[in-house]
Formats: sequence, C-alpha cells, structure tokens
Amino acid sequence: MKQIIVLATTNKGKTREIQELLQGFPIIIKNLADFGPIPEVIEDGETFDDNAYKKASFTARVLGYPAMADDSGICVQALDGAPGVYSARYAGKNTTDADNVKKMLDDLKSHENRNAAFKCVISIAVPTGAALTYEGECKGIIAHKPIGDNGFGYDPLFFYPKLNKTFAQLTIEEKGRVSHRGLALKQIAAEMDKIIEWIDINMPKFQQVECKGSKL
Ligand code: IMP
Repeated sequence: MKQIIVLATTNKGKTREIQELLQGFPIIIKNLADFGPIPEVIEDGETFDDNAYKKASFTARVLGYPAMADDSGICVQALDGAPGVYSARYAGKNTTDADNVKKMLDDLKSHENRNAAFKCVISIAVPTGAALTYEGECKGIIAHKPIGDNGFGYDPLFFYPKLNKTFAQLTIEEKGRVSHRGLALKQIAAEMDKIIEWIDINMPKFQQVECKGSKL
C-alpha cells in the first residue's frame, strides 16, 4: 500500500517541484489544498529549521498523516543574510513575488557584492511530534534585472553561474538537479526506504475496539 504524505503547503510551485522529484516511490504526495481548511501555522521561527518543523508537526497532528514541510528562502551576503526566513514577505504582508523581486533590486542598487544562496530545510513529521530533517543549499548571484519566465519567487533574479542562466530560465528538471530544494530532496530520495520504515514505526497505532455481541 502506498504511504500518504501531506505537503504542508498550498504553494503550487513548491508542490510541483517536490512531486516531480519524488515520483516513482511508493508514496502519494498530497498538499493542503486536498483537505478542508486547517488553521494557518504562524511562521515565527528564527531559523528555516524552526519553521519547517513547526509546519510539518502541526500539519501531521491536525490531519493525522505524516507531513512534509519545506522552509526555504534566499540569503543575500550584502544584506547580512536578509531576507532569509522573511523571504516570502520581504516587501511586506500580502505582496507578490514581483514586489519582492523589485525590493531586492532596489536594496542592492548600490552594492557590487551580489553573492546569494538559496537555503532549504525539509522536515518530515508524524502526529506524535517525532521528525526527520534534511537540508540543501545552492549558491548564486543576484542578477541586475529579472530574466526568464519559469519557476517562482526569486527565480528570475537568481543567476546560477555553472549553467550561465537564472533559475527562471531552467526547466523544473534542470532546477531540481542543482537547487537547494532539489539537493535536500535528493537526500530524501536516497533514504526513502528508511523513511517509509521510520514513518511506519512512528505512526500512532490504533487498537481495534471490540463491542459486546458484535465485532467492529
Ligand atoms: P516559505 O513558504 O516560508 O518557505 O517561503 C519561501 C519563500 O522563499 C518563497 O515565497 C520564495 O519567495 C522564496 N523561495 C524559496 N525557494 C525558492 C525557489 O526555489 N525559487 C524562488 N524563490 C524561492
């Protein structure tokens, strides 16, 4: 039987990338859009690790399935590592990817150092709170203007020198081979047998309740 794992996100870009990279395993990947509304997790952790664990363990507890959460973002050297865990709301609450891209270009206007790294932590948690953690990092350079139409978030600004393209110029497969998320998922894929066994051992076991006179 295939193991259901719920991705603790409604982000279509992330879901597509994760489903693509973990296809072929005996798992069914769902995301929060496959379930009714559940309370939102406040991502107030100080690290990617804190937020990934918070999202994964909360979702697993509420839905009763093993859950996987990715917390990721971009860290820019000239901005002292910002926006980091605040990447999604860099330009403010309820803003778009385009607003974040514009703010980053504005903030880096006077900087020659455009070194940056995408970072990703993936937490896999069961309803009891136990969790596994995987990490990935990818170094690049912030371009002077958005280039490319693929991907999401800061992809049009993230120039990856080894391929001489921004992430928004790569296909999902090309990005997955080198990206922060791709590298974390590669480790997960390599350990999938062990992870499925770990989930099986750590999922709460429900006991059959016997009723007098009839079997449930
Ligand atoms: P999270 O949902 O809190 O992990 O938000 C991560 C934010 O970081 C996203 O909304 C994007 O702005 C940015 N981000 C993370 N990973 C990527 C990526 O692979 N490409 C582009 N932007 C990303």
